[in-house]
Amino acid sequence: MSTTKRIVILGAGESGTGAALLAKRLGYGVFVSDKSPIKPEYRTELETAGIEYEAGQHTLDKILNASEIIKSPGIPEKAEVMQAIRARGIPVIGEIEFAARWSVKTGGTIVAITGSNGKTTTTGLLYHLLQTAGLNVAVGGNIGHAFARLVLEDYNTGNIGVKAVLQNRVFVLEVSSFQLEDIEKFRPRIAVLLNITPDHLDRYDYQLENYARAKFRITKNQRRGDVFIFNGADPVLQDYMVRHTLAPAKKVAVRRGFYKNGFIHIGKQYAFDMAHSKLRGPHNMFNAACAIRAALTLGADPANIQKGLNTFEPPAHRLEVVATINGVTWINDSKATNVDAVFYALQAMDTPTIWIVGGQDKGNDYAPLLPLVKKKVKAIVCMGVDNSKIIEFFRKTNKPIIETRSAGEAVEQAARLSASGDTVLLSPACASFDLFKNYEDRGEQFKASVTLKNNKPCLSATK
Ligand code: ADP
Repeated sequence: MSTTKRIVILGAGESGTGAALLAKRLGYGVFVSDKSPIKPEYRTELETAGIEYEAGQHTLDKILNASEIIKSPGIPEKAEVMQAIRARGIPVIGEIEFAARWSVKTGGTIVAITGSNGKTTTTGLLYHLLQTAGLNVAVGGNIGHAFARLVLEDYNTGNIGVKAVLQNRVFVLEVSSFQLEDIEKFRPRIAVLLNITPDHLDRYDYQLENYARAKFRITKNQRRGDVFIFNGADPVLQDYMVRHTLAPAKKVAVRRGFYKNGFIHIGKQYAFDMAHSKLRGPHNMFNAACAIRAALTLGADPANIQKGLNTFEPPAHRLEVVATINGVTWINDSKATNVDAVFYALQAMDTPTIWIVGGQDKGNDYAPLLPLVKKKVKAIVCMGVDNSKIIEFFRKTNKPIIETRSAGEAVEQAARLSASGDTVLLSPACASFDLFKNYEDRGEQFKASVTLKNNKPCLSATK
């Protein structure tokens, strides 16, 4: 390795900071440039590691002399700084490409999971299954710790080259389409593609094909012996696979019919009982089937997989049961920021539902929800600054539609509209930024209001 190579990192979020720390540890000259303010915890880390950085600007003189650029996934090609870099012909990679380059040297195995919906759940579940099965496993990528930070841990243990210590480390990574755009050789031993539905299309010139192409990059470097697990019932995937030749990995389709009578069937050989799992809804059974396939491929013992399924705690804000109060079940699905996620949430409802929806619209087409809303929804509570599109669209259902502009107000109204045996579902189909910091904040405020409500007997007595 050349120690004179200068790496410039654009963006100092989790992935940029992770990449900077790893690059510095490997002996590169490192400079970090972020056009926005850098969070104090990342600034501290950069300073402690002696890494030069700038915030609030991109100084081209300090960027265009790089031998290689590592770009954070949030930075679009259209950005001025990217255009200057491209004009100079400086190689650009993403943080997962950089981390993968070095994880290979530690004998790491990469499992990468992408899709429009279900990434975090599937990634978390697979991590848990592998951990339960006793494998040496790390989790991160688009969630939690950046991949580069995980690889850095290996380098910091000082055991590089000592295969006995490192060869079994499995990196379970959630990867986004943005991250996949900036890979070259990134090669997962197992790649999982859960589904492709319209999301983030603003970044892809509103072409689903462009978005699909980015997602399919997950398998592009796979070789014979690697495994590509995909959704065999997803029309967008099917269509893409008919028109494109994929890399020669073993293709494993999870098709309709794998879930019967409460069991997930893997071929004829295995049946996993989901009765004790906290995962709800058919979409989560699908996520679990993908995770099980991956775990089996990595040699996890079926008995341990079953144990892991029984003990998995699903991540918060995804069909999370908050409480049952006076016979009404309150569910927080704040992470449902697109129509498809709401489709699956409504599908999973089995009692009359008060649906809390709304926020910052992302060009939503609500049509796919109409039959489910007609069938399952008792009343609609809008929670957003501008609710006109939702009101306009769902007026034809003749369901009561109420407007609210805070989590507290929405909970208040939902409580008023509900009766024992009903479910109140927060599943917004929209981004949260009109009223909240992010989807977590939205979910937390919702949960806090529900809990508060539980402690106010006079209000719960209104039903
Ligand atoms: P991601 O990380 O891809 O955003 P999450 O696991 O965080 O996925 O789930 C996001 C939302 O999508 C939640 O509302 C969840 O209930 C829903 N969801 C999860 N898995 C699927 C799936 N396989 N298909 C459709 N929706 C899903």
